[in-house]
Amino acid sequence: MKKEYIIAGNWKMYKTVKESLDFVEALEEKVSALPRNEAVEILVFPPFTSLYALAGKSHKIKTGAQNLHFEEKGAFTGEISPLMLAGLVDYVLIGHSERRQIFHETDAEINKKIKTALNHGFQPVLCIGETLDEREAGKTLSTIQTQLDQDLDGLSAEEIKKLVIAYEPVWAIGTGKNATPQQAQEAHAFIREILKKKIAFPGAAEDTRILYGGSVKPDNSYDLLSRPDVNGALIGGASLKIADFFVIIQDAYKLADG
Ligand code: PEP
Repeated sequence: MKKEYIIAGNWKMYKTVKESLDFVEALEEKVSALPRNEAVEILVFPPFTSLYALAGKSHKIKTGAQNLHFEEKGAFTGEISPLMLAGLVDYVLIGHSERRQIFHETDAEINKKIKTALNHGFQPVLCIGETLDEREAGKTLSTIQTQLDQDLDGLSAEEIKKLVIAYEPVWAIGTGKNATPQQAQEAHAFIREILKKKIAFPGAAEDTRILYGGSVKPDNSYDLLSRPDVNGALIGGASLKIADFFVIIQDAYKLADG
């Protein structure tokens, strides 16, 4: 069976509107020169300010929001409502470790955000992953289990099936230290087992796309993407440079064709 991939770039707080437009236009041109391949989805998470300008600009590159508020409106200064994202994005990143650590987002809030995103027709990309202390204490798998239990609490099997999961070990994000392909595979297989139990019908969770994130670069992407339970990558630093991002996209094209 052909494997399907998502190659996603998280631009964090980088790129002005013009830089975002220039990037997407240049990337579209490069991707258009590749043979058609429906099994690879390309996605970027630009800053909110670029989303309106990017809407409808590319057939090949989808966009997602880096966050959303779980309420539709109210006195929440600085927040973005799902109503404001309607028509602008397909995906929403939820629970990125920077949101969890710097902005103290809790699993209970993440759970509410997932429900809001689904109610508004967005596909959530839920980020989970252990800290270095948790890994060194042998708590990687139990951390993943707890996060999934809390973040997916109260969701139906049909709703869970709509999610994309990004496994991002916190110690690997922006540090230049990636998980080895074996470490990524082990975590992804475990995540898939948990999802199978939560979805609980035959064939469920086999199609769930589980992305790896954490210092993915052109020199490690092929190995990571070739592991059986790795269905793509969520890329920070290397997604800001077209040349690097494009190498990783090409890796997915090669593997999806295999
Ligand atoms: C991220 O921001 O999700 C990420 C994985 O960053 P980096 O690729 O820079 O480690």
